[in-house]
Amino acid sequence: MRLFFLIIILFLAGCQSNAETNRNVDIYNSDGDMIGTAGFSEQPDGVQIKLKLEGLAPGFHGIHIHEYPKCEGPDFTTAGNHFNPEGKEHGLMHPKGPHLGDLPNIEADGGGLAEAELMLAGATMLEGKNSLFQGEGTSIVIDESQDDGISQPSGNSGVRIACGEIKTDPDAESTESPTDPTQFNEKQEE
Ligand SMILES: [Zn+2]
Repeated sequence: MRLFFLIIILFLAGCQSNAETNRNVDIYNSDGDMIGTAGFSEQPDGVQIKLKLEGLAPGFHGIHIHEYPKCEGPDFTTAGNHFNPEGKEHGLMHPKGPHLGDLPNIEADGGGLAEAELMLAGATMLEGKNSLFQGEGTSIVIDESQDDGISQPSGNSGVRIACGEIKTDPDAESTESPTDPTQFNEKQEE
């Protein structure tokens, strides 16, 4: 019974903290269709990312954290460059790298499914310049082909094919929200 109360107290303490150490992000392709999720969780040595995706071309795809929480298709250039608060070169194999946002490639199977657990070493969901929640946030972007781990500026991994916004304030209204049902209704009623 005492343990039960202790758990409740720890749970309440966790709720009162402003720090968010778990976040699920929806990922959309360039047609605006949701193709999966990325679950972020704070760890002692970085941020763990659990990915579940479908509808990808079979094979390897580059995946990176980008500097702005803005995913506007079809090319997702609004997400900016790779998240690079330490001013390094691109690539997990680059001697002067990597960008903080650089991740190992993911592989989609023959049916286009990809599941992966990746570690974003040195990043955090708490305060600081290496935080995924710095400024208005960051984003996670999947590329057409595999990141070679050394070519500048982004590993020769082709165009951006999917994107998910990691917003510091997930309730903040986006100025462009094509799937907002109330907007749709208003237009229909006119
Ligand atoms: Zn990079």
